[in-house]
Parts: sequence; structure tokens; C-alpha cells
Amino acid sequence: MNMERDNPRFRFAPSPTGALHIGGARTALYNWLAARHAADGRLVLRIEDTDRERSTAEHVDQILDAMDWLGLTYDEGPISQAGRADRHAAALEQLLAAGVAYRDAATAKDVEAWKAEHGAGRGYRGTPTEEPGAAVRLRVPDDGETIVEDLIHGPVAFPNASYDDFVIARADDTVLYNFAVAVDDAEMGITEVVRGDDHLSNTPKQLLVLRALGHEPPRYAHLPLLHGPDGKKLSKRHGAASVQELREAGYLPAAVRNYLALLGWGTDDDTTLMSTEELIRRFEVADVGKAAAIFDEKKLRWLNGRFMREMPLDEYTLAVSRHLGREPDERLREACAISQDKAQTLAEVWPLIRFLYEPPVDDAKAWAKVMKEGAGELLAAAAEALAAVEPYTAESIEGALAPLLARFDVKAGRLYQPLRVAITGTSVSPGIFESLAALGREETLNRVRDASKRLAAAP
Ligand code: GLU
Repeated sequence: MNMERDNPRFRFAPSPTGALHIGGARTALYNWLAARHAADGRLVLRIEDTDRERSTAEHVDQILDAMDWLGLTYDEGPISQAGRADRHAAALEQLLAAGVAYRDAATAKDVEAWKAEHGAGRGYRGTPTEEPGAAVRLRVPDDGETIVEDLIHGPVAFPNASYDDFVIARADDTVLYNFAVAVDDAEMGITEVVRGDDHLSNTPKQLLVLRALGHEPPRYAHLPLLHGPDGKKLSKRHGAASVQELREAGYLPAAVRNYLALLGWGTDDDTTLMSTEELIRRFEVADVGKAAAIFDEKKLRWLNGRFMREMPLDEYTLAVSRHLGREPDERLREACAISQDKAQTLAEVWPLIRFLYEPPVDDAKAWAKVMKEGAGELLAAAAEALAAVEPYTAESIEGALAPLLARFDVKAGRLYQPLRVAITGTSVSPGIFESLAALGREETLNRVRDASKRLAAAP
């Protein structure tokens, strides 16, 4: 569906009361994709930090860091919502002066009593007072409906009569959340609000504030929530939860962008490989589905592995070097070259290439499984072949070892698994010939001899 308009202005408005989680990251991504898709789209980052107790500078830093790692650039901001308190106060003043908002001294108990009298489904209507220490309420019309024209859900109607004249500022004149959001969206010229489904019920209140202030409302799109593979609301239980955890787990930003983009948008297939350019070209908020989408880390892993395999070696080496905090030198480049098709995440690379940097690990299970009858003899024959092979490359190593299979009449695993365990200590490594070549002849022979000795000494 093509519903583009000129100069759309999007915003991402996280509350810094916690880390940016996968759901929030998807909201940020969708806003970014939509803003970049439009010829003149802009993205504003607004930090909704009015909850002074729960908002922290660390969380702000964490959100900025997460956006940066994901490559989600913004054109304006970060703008602190708390920093706009004077703008909120001015808007409040405007509504009070116009009489569309009023002070009401009613307590929660008074409201309850009013409802008992008028019926529970009826929205509370207060009694204006000049008393200074009273909260401020917005007048809600008694008739008609407030309709949210949602790009994803279609029109959703809320009957005005059932809405309280809701509080927009406390007795101390600090404004409430829905008021601040509506004022900010209007004054920042926001034309598109793309956010989680959990905010749909706030929208009529924000529309009522916008109408009272005489502002044109933005267009809304409420994204369905994310669930885990078990159908329950996404949480820590389902694996990596924050963007930083995804980074630590060794995912690539491009793969995360790809996978998150497909959660609720695009094809039914959430494993389609798409470059970020392609996502930007194709993304439309109006094409987001209504149903909750499933975040399945297994699929992200798979997709990430595909991205890792398709990276040019230099880029891949750089990504691995950053993840490991090691220089992207020739040795690492070679280690990356032989392991690139074996790992699905950057975190999986180190266990594969560690043997090139450190002595073999001690994996007792792997040892017990392959260092059995006949392994000593095979290792001795392999050492002899490896000592003589020229040049010492993966290709000629394969040529020198392969004849041993026929000579000893054994399957490949009987020879290569003991060799693998001898040089790495474990049973998982890059291709055996590449591994032997990368380790170098001298170190290989040392390790094979050590393993043979250990085998001979075994009871
Ligand atoms: N600050 C809200 C949140 O983090 C988002 C509000 C909005 O997008 O309007 O959930």
C-alpha cells in the first residue's frame, strides 16, 4: 500500500527507564526505515525522561549506544522531554486560559463517589475551582467519538462519554505523560507516530489534547507486540533481550536489522536475506501486519550466519577483531579465512580459532571418544607424512594424508578426528587440512607428538 506523504517527520521516543530491548529496537528500526525510505523523511529522537525517579543518564547512554551500534541515525535530537517543561507549562496555560482545561480539587475518593452516582461507564466530569493547589483536567466532550485512524489497525473508535475529564497536570503543575507527548509531537512537527501497540489506548487522550490545542494530529501506526516462540510476551527468558546483549552474543548489526525488520513486516517468510538498502527501498509502515510477531533467536542466528559467510574477508576479519578485541593482523585474517563458513555468530569464532593462539584445550570427552585403539599408529604415520610434505599447504597436506586411509584401511574420521584432537584438544575446528596448514608444520608436529606420548602413557 502506498500512503506516502511529503516531508514526513517521524520520531522515536524511548523512556530511559531501562535498556533498549528488542521490541524497542524494532520500533526504532521501523521509524528509521520509514524516514529513510521517504525522499525527505526526518527522524527525531526524543528521550521521554519525565519520570525523574526511573530515568537515568546510564539508560540514556545505553539507548544512544544501542542506536549507534544498530546504525540507526537520527536527524534531530536527542531532545530531552523533561527539558521542555516550560513548553508544557505554556501549553497548559493556554488551555486553562481558553477554559478547555480547568482545576478540580477532587480526590480519587471524590471521583469514585461521582462514578457511583453517575454509573461506572460514564466518564468523570469535575467541578472547576479557582483553588491553586488543584490538579488540572482536560474537558472531554460528552458526545461523539475520538477516532484513531491507525495505519495498521484501521480506524479505532473511542466513545468520548466514557472518558474522564482526565488529569493533564498535577497540583504542582507538572504535566502528565499523555499531555507532554501530545504537546511535543505537535511542536516538533511530527507527522508520523510509529510505536508499540501498548500505546494505542493512550492515543485518544493525546488526540483530545491536540484538538484542544488546535493542532493537526499526526498519523498513527501501532505495531503489534513481539512474542517469543512459545507465544508469550517477549522477555529475557527467550534469550538475548537488550541490544547490547545481541552485540555481546556476536550478532552483526546488518543481520539484526534484517531480522527485526521482518518481524511483522514484509513477506511471511522471516528468514529472507535482505540488505539494509533493500529494506529501506521496500519498507512501508502500512504493510505491517496486525498479528503479534514471533522473535525466534534461532532464526536470527541462522540469518546472522548467512551474513557472516557473505562478508568479504577483510570486513569479516575486522568484525571478528572488534568482537575479540584483537588486532586484525595477518594471523587473524588467516584464522578468519578458515573459519568463516563454520560460525553463525562472532562469539562462535574464538572457540574455532583458539588453537592458533593457545595450546590445545583439554576436552576429556573429545579425547575419550577418538583417542582409541589404533589412534597412536595413525598419528605416528600422519606425523611422518606431515614432516615430509612440501609445500606445507592445505592442498598438499590433504594429498599427503589421504593415502594413509587406504594404507590402514580406515574411514576418514578415524584418522582426522585424532589429528584434530591432537592439535586443538577438541573435536570441533575449521577444516582439518586448513587447520593443520594454519598452525604451521613445527607446532603441528609438536602437538601430534605430545598427543602420541599421552596416548602411549595411558593405562
Ligand atoms: N516513551 C514511550 C515508551 O518508551 C513511547 C511513547 C511514544 O512513542 O509515544 O514506551
